[in-house]
Amino acid sequence: MNQISIIGAGIGGLTLGNILKQHDLDFTMYESAPEIKPVGAEIMMAVNAMQIFDSLGLKEKIESRGNKIQGIFITDEKLRTISTTNVLALEKKFNSCNVAIHRAELQNILAKNVGFENIKLNDSLQQIQKNENYHLDFKNGLNIESKFVFGADGIHSKVRNQVLKTGKIRNAGQKCWRGLTDFILPEKYSHHALEIWGKGKRFGFVKISEQKVYWYALVNENKFEENLDLTEVFKDFDSLVLEILESTQKENIILNDIIDLAPIPKWCRKSLFNWRCTSCNNSEYGTRCLSIH
Ligand SMILES: Cc1cc2nc3c(=O)[nH]c(=O)nc-3n(C[C@H](O)[C@H](O)[C@H](O)COP(=O)(O)OP(=O)(O)OC[C@H]3O[C@@H](n4cnc5c(N)ncnc54)[C@H](O)[C@@H]3O)c2cc1C
Repeated sequence: MNQISIIGAGIGGLTLGNILKQHDLDFTMYESAPEIKPVGAEIMMAVNAMQIFDSLGLKEKIESRGNKIQGIFITDEKLRTISTTNVLALEKKFNSCNVAIHRAELQNILAKNVGFENIKLNDSLQQIQKNENYHLDFKNGLNIESKFVFGADGIHSKVRNQVLKTGKIRNAGQKCWRGLTDFILPEKYSHHALEIWGKGKRFGFVKISEQKVYWYALVNENKFEENLDLTEVFKDFDSLVLEILESTQKENIILNDIIDLAPIPKWCRKSLFNWRCTSCNNSEYGTRCLSIH
């Protein structure tokens, strides 16, 4: 029997594994994929996330494999600033930076530190049931009993659906392309993340390492059609956008819907901490009260 099981070895599961390891807690992690592979291209780790990685001793490693981002800008089509987020002030306050990094790099750092031997691959959870302990049934016939289970199995989580019976997926009505290209940005954008707003469309880009630029492009669903030519869609944007698009190989572009999870009332079945809200004495939500007091 397992003491602790983690379902899913994405960024969430791997980070949790690192935290449990740091506390000398015994756990087993189950991942449905045959290998640890990145979902998407790049990710920006914000100052709050970097503080967690700092506490795990991984901050410098992540910073050195990615690119520190000191300013986040919203601009119009011609790169004229609409708003700025002053990341430097946050950096100073929390002694951590925003880091843009390839997802594969981040997952590799986290998986290496947790120990690849602690991650069981090809184990896809099908069913979870609570009796005295949790009973986990996997697609490949594996059956496990576990005292504690963490569901880190992503937005369509089976753990959340079956244990908490909650989770409404919302579709933003936007299509999103993400791409990675070998491209040298003008020096002034070396440590900036830009998001450019047009009518019913947006384009963002950021440097993630020497000569590598990550970009994303969004259009409202009503403007979407199969095999849309992005250089045509964004032809009224600054020429830098078109250069980035033109430099990208087709096989380095992925296309997804933009979805998220509507706020859920509960993140755990039962609080481990005898927690109660000091305003309403409610203990239902586990670690924080969702009522407005
Ligand atoms: C376009 C886009 C851009 C984003 N940009 C950012 C950003 O810049 N910064 C940021 O902080 N966040 C960003 N996010 C959000 C971020 O990607 C997610 O919050 C994060 O990946 C969630 O991690 P996770 O580990 O919870 O889930 P996932 O990354 O989805 O990992 C879940 C893992 O569980 C496994 N799994 C699933 N089902 C099972 C099962 N039944 N049994 C076993 N294993 C299973 C999957 O194979 C996967 O490995 C972005 C998201 C999108 C879509």
